[in-house]
Formats: sequence, C-alpha cells, structure tokens
Amino acid sequence: MVHIVGAGPGDPDLITVKGQRLLSEADIVIYAGSLVNEEILKFCKPDAEIYNSAQMMLEEILHVITLAEKAGKTTVRLHTGDPSIYGAVQEQMNAMEARGIEFDVTPGVSSFLAAAASLKQEYTLPGVTQTVIITRRGGRTPVPDSESLKKLAQHQTTLCIFLSVSLLPEIKQDLMSAGFKSSTPVAVVYKASWPGEEKIIKGRLDTIVQQVKEANIDRTAMIIIGHCLNARKENQQKSNLYSPKFSHMFRQARF
Ligand code: SAH
Repeated sequence: MVHIVGAGPGDPDLITVKGQRLLSEADIVIYAGSLVNEEILKFCKPDAEIYNSAQMMLEEILHVITLAEKAGKTTVRLHTGDPSIYGAVQEQMNAMEARGIEFDVTPGVSSFLAAAASLKQEYTLPGVTQTVIITRRGGRTPVPDSESLKKLAQHQTTLCIFLSVSLLPEIKQDLMSAGFKSSTPVAVVYKASWPGEEKIIKGRLDTIVQQVKEANIDRTAMIIIGHCLNARKENQQKSNLYSPKFSHMFRQARF
C-alpha cells in the first residue's frame, strides 16, 4: 500500500495527525527533498528506508514502490504542502493506477495557507474580495494563455503566486498593465512556517522588487497581491457571520 502524504509547508508540527501516523508506520519513505523540511523525518521508524526524490526520475520512484509492494511493505510518498498544488503527483498516481498499485492521499497544509497565517491575514474580506486565485507566472513551465497573469489580475481578487519569486519584475509589469495601481499592497513570504528561517516582506507593487532583492530571496517564497492586504482592522467591513442582524442555522438575529 502506498500513502501519498502532504508534509505541510515546513514546520514539522504542521503535518496532519493522520500524516504523522502514516509516516511513523512506513517501511519506505520517499520525500521531495528539494522542499520538504528534513526535520519531519524524525517521525519515521528508525529502520525505515528513506529516499530523496529530488535525485530520482519518475521510473526510479516507481521502481522503489513496485519492489516495496512485492515485499508487502508500506510506502509513504511525502510531498511538500498539499500534494494537489504543483505537486507533480498526478503522473505518479496515473502510473500506480496503471500498474494496479493501491494508494490513497492524505492532504497537507499548503504554503499559501501558511503564508496567510504568518501574515495574520484573511484572503477573503467582505466588501473587498471573495475569491483567491492560486497561480504561477509562466516561465520555463508555460501557463495557458487564457490564464496569463494579465487576464487573471483583471478580476482584482487576492492572488497567491507560487514558483515565481524570480519573476517578480515580470509579475509587476503584468499587474500594472492589467490595471493594478503601483500602490497595490504586495507581501512575499519566504519559507513560511519554517522555524528560524521565515522572512516576511511587505511592500507595494512599485517597491517589492527592490525589497525582495535586498532580502536575497530567490526561491521558496509565496507572493500575495491584493487589496485584502490593505484592509486593516477598524475600517474593514464586518462579515455577516458575527453580525447581530444576520440569522443563520446556528443563531437567530437579535434585532
Ligand atoms: N505543494 C506545495 C507547492 C509546491 S511548488 C504547497 O502546497 O505548498 C513549490 C512552491 O511552493 C515554491 O516555489 C513556493 O512558491 C511555494 N512554497 C512551498 N513551501 C513554501 C513555504 N514554506 N513558504 C513560502 N512558499 C512556499
């Protein structure tokens, strides 16, 4: 049996209870070494066989899994954050299906959520935006034309941009040409939740490129753009959820 597990964003305590249990029971662990915090391997059995997939091709990963299956062993395939977001996991699931290998998936805390926690920020503010777009900027890996940042940005939602911090100058251009003002707030969170390594940079579209350069951030960072970052405390429209005028399934209106 193979368990695909989301390791969470970096802090080893942010793996799910189920993920931790599966990891502690696994005979074989294949982890995405380029991004998973190796601290999390402390949950493995002392005699677990551990492989770093950063040095492996898809066929090699499948080979390790196939041998484990033949020997009746349990494998955990450990992905960073949540496997469903830029996890390159579909091709592995398809290959396992094709070979009749049984597997399941345990979700994880994605880095865009860890970044919100680090920023102490809600992405879906009433009266500001009710939508979050998760995307990346096209670079070496192309993005379909219909999903170019220029097009997505026109909705003026909260944007969480993965895998793109090295393309920040291009992102700025795209967003300005889509109508975002140079004063639009931007946050960059490097290694969100990693103990002792996290960096938070807050700025505006016209300052962020320089700020991120000065902080030497060129990888493992989440870019967050949108007016939600401006809507601090007092001047923010309250949600209906806690309003006395609003009834819902669990509470009657009081006025
Ligand atoms: N499946 C992962 C994403 C893998 S793609 C998830 O759900 O988070 C790798 C990209 O994710 C990085 O380039 C970066 O943009 C983002 N990322 C991963 N971990 C991060 C972290 N701790 N802090 C900020 N961004 C992170």
